[in-house]
Amino acid sequence: MASGKLIVITGPSGVGKGTIVRSLIQTYSQLHLSVSATTRKPRPGEIDGRDYYFLNRDEFQLAIVEGEFLEWAEYAGNYYGTPQTNIQELIDGGKWVLLEIELVGARIVSEIFPDALKIFLLPPSMAELEARLRRRGKDPESAIEKRLHRAKEEIAASEEFEVRIVNQDLKTAIDEVAQVIFDN
Ligand code: 5GP
Repeated sequence: MASGKLIVITGPSGVGKGTIVRSLIQTYSQLHLSVSATTRKPRPGEIDGRDYYFLNRDEFQLAIVEGEFLEWAEYAGNYYGTPQTNIQELIDGGKWVLLEIELVGARIVSEIFPDALKIFLLPPSMAELEARLRRRGKDPESAIEKRLHRAKEEIAASEEFEVRIVNQDLKTAIDEVAQVIFDN
C-alpha cells in the first residue's frame, strides 16, 4: 500500500490557502482534507460539516476538555481546532491528509508529527494581502484588522517552515504546492 503523509498548509488570512487547498482536493483524489471545528459564525455559503463543524463556545470548550482536538488555537476572536478523530488511521491507511491551519496549530502539529510536510504561503506584499482581504468582503472591518495584525506575526515566523511559496499568481502557486506535495 502507498504510504500516507500529513501536509500542513499555513499562511496569513487572505493569502489564498482555502482556494489553493480546494483546488488541490478537487484535482488529486489521494488528498484528504481534514474538516476543522470553529466558533466563528458561518459565512454565506458555508456548510456545517463541509467547510467547518460550527460549534458554540460551550461546545468547543467541552470538546477541548474531552480531548477531541489534535490541536486548537484562538484566532482573531474565535476558536479553531483539528478533530483528533482518525488522522493517524488515515495516514496509516495510505491517505495524504491535508490540514489548513494557522501558525499556533501548525507548531503543535509539527511537535506531534515531526515528519509532517509544512508549507507556508506568503502574499506578494502586506499591501496586496490587505487588498485581498478587503476585496474578499467576507469579514467585518474589526475582523480584518485582527487578521492583518496576526498576519504580521505569522509572516515573521514563516522561516520555521521548510517550504515557503509566494502566492503571486494563483495557478502558479497551486502548481508549486502540488509539486512539493508529490515530491516529498
Ligand atoms: P477563517 O475564519 O478565515 O476560515 O480561518 C481563520 C484561520 O484559522 C485561518 O488561518 C485558518 O487556516 C485557520 N484554521 C482553520 N481551521 C483551523 C484549525 O483546525 N486549527 C487551527 N489552529 N487553525 C485553523
